[in-house]
Amino acid sequence: MSSPSKMEAVAIDGPAGSGKSTVSKLTAKKLGYLYIDTGAMYRALTLKVMTEGVDLSNEGKIIELSRTTDIKLEPSEEEGKLIRVLLDGKDVSDEIRTMEVTVNVKHVCKLPKVRENLVALQRSLAESAHGSVMEGRDISTVVLKDAKYKFYVDASFDERVRRRFCEMESKGTPVTREEVADDLRQRDDTDMNREVGALKKANDAILLDTTNLTIDEVVQKIVNMVTA
Ligand code: C5P
Repeated sequence: MSSPSKMEAVAIDGPAGSGKSTVSKLTAKKLGYLYIDTGAMYRALTLKVMTEGVDLSNEGKIIELSRTTDIKLEPSEEEGKLIRVLLDGKDVSDEIRTMEVTVNVKHVCKLPKVRENLVALQRSLAESAHGSVMEGRDISTVVLKDAKYKFYVDASFDERVRRRFCEMESKGTPVTREEVADDLRQRDDTDMNREVGALKKANDAILLDTTNLTIDEVVQKIVNMVTA
């Protein structure tokens, strides 16, 4: 697979709870670029696997679904939402955020053939836009190796737990800090130790430690670099 060269793309990778999604959305909005949430694609495919009643160990069937399932990211009209996620034409933007999908997605995103299919889709989306902000785990290292701008957004473990806990509390999800910490520990482990598409900072990516920065400060740093 070859990646597009010299495209006006901003690649943003980082672990769960680093603030990467909020930063990516706001950056895309400020720059007027297309926002591409690759995690949402893996989540949508996982939802499809679950609703079809496919066993999560049935790799052949999951790979087949990754070729045949229609996953689209579209601009959203809804206040506060930049995009909506369509699975075979149905809006699943909220459904893909459930704990069940979050827990099961690792069985889907570890499969090299699945990643190949979704990476092709992600590249074609970026190619279709005059500029894009794509967020995920392997964007700088695999999907858009030749992106003009690459960032690795991180924060201390305690700060990531604090942010995730506040986010879930504000949504009314009953959860303890310990549960949030366990979940993040496990997600870091599967994200960083996957055989393909593992999360790691690309050598040419700029590290943004957001532990002591506000979201706006991080966004401004990125926008300043892109527009310099
Ligand atoms: O970013 P988000 O948490 O929504 O991603 C959902 C899942 O998809 C994560 O568990 C992550 O490991 C996986 N993912 C991936 N490759 C990407 C983006 C997300 O494997 N490019």
